[in-house]
Amino acid sequence: MKTAIVIREAKKLVFLFIALFFIFQSNTITAQKFKVVIDAGHGGTDPGNLGNGYFEKDIVLKIALEVGKLLKATKDIEIIYTRDDDTFIELFERGEVAQKSKADLFVSIHCDAFGKSSVHGAGTFVLGLHENDRNFEIAKKENQVILLEDNYKTNYGGFDPNSPESVIGLTLMQEEFLDQSLVLARLIQDNFVADLSRNDRKVKQAGFLVLRNTFMPSVLVETGFLTNKNEGAYLNSKKGQQEMAKSIYKAVKSYKKQLDENIVIDEKPESASKPESIKPKTRIIKGVDFKVQISSSSKRVKTAAYNFKGLKGIERVRVGAHHKYYYGKTSDYNKILKLKKQAKAKGYTSAFIVAFKYGKKVSVREVLANK
Ligand SMILES: [Zn+2]
Repeated sequence: MKTAIVIREAKKLVFLFIALFFIFQSNTITAQKFKVVIDAGHGGTDPGNLGNGYFEKDIVLKIALEVGKLLKATKDIEIIYTRDDDTFIELFERGEVAQKSKADLFVSIHCDAFGKSSVHGAGTFVLGLHENDRNFEIAKKENQVILLEDNYKTNYGGFDPNSPESVIGLTLMQEEFLDQSLVLARLIQDNFVADLSRNDRKVKQAGFLVLRNTFMPSVLVETGFLTNKNEGAYLNSKKGQQEMAKSIYKAVKSYKKQLDENIVIDEKPESASKPESIKPKTRIIKGVDFKVQISSSSKRVKTAAYNFKGLKGIERVRVGAHHKYYYGKTSDYNKILKLKKQAKAKGYTSAFIVAFKYGKKVSVREVLANK
């Protein structure tokens, strides 16, 4: 009888080990492709604006699909569409798509409309407090769609698209990504102006609800005014759509390149000319903590070494719906370079250095330059 109990216990243990093995497997974070969510505004029962008889929903879908097609050709970029056909999607769902796919970037594409037909040009928005009534009006128009949704009061925490004050509170959630969102927005605007000579309506901030639930750098592009005769015809043409798409595509590529370059910031190849003995041993930047960001994930993983390929002392910080995982903490830039090398050697190939000054995230480039 005793042996039967032993066997039963042993079986339980084996089962437990197998279960634990799979849990750890699924928790191991690995390097992924750079994911871009392309969000064609409106769709289905929501046509968007109908300036000059055009359909915003159709034009923005064509531009969105073209941006996606161009980006897909880049093998290290993955595209996720919030819609790739004429369907109605609630605003909060668009953010959820981005969240679930753990995207690195969110680009929402729209066309504008205005009472005066002479108004024209392209502008790119990041989430923020509208600086003037006109920006509020644009956001209000794009947010109004939630009134078509069934549970908008619950889904948007009592947000009122008609109230300028309602936008406060939205903005905090994107604060972390503001710098990066602005970088992408400027790149897009620069291309619109330099390549296509579009009238520059600049990079602006306003309270777009669709950008609220995206915990990643996010922009909303107003490609132009359908209410303007020439611009409407241009945006409705294949040529116009392809050109606008190409500008957005190029901007995303440049943005990614900048990110990649930041990762290798100030790092000389192994065989750098300075011999080992002359190299300063430390490079302390006072008041600054450098850390190696090895991963960002919606999963909350225990910071034990076995979950991080043997790296010890991992710090987990929650930012919105994401958890960031940092390795190391030091004011010595040379030391953090070494830690980053270690992390990369362990397989965190996209690990990069971040800097905090008095607890606030700052640019690594700047803190090094100011020294
Ligand atoms: Zn729109």
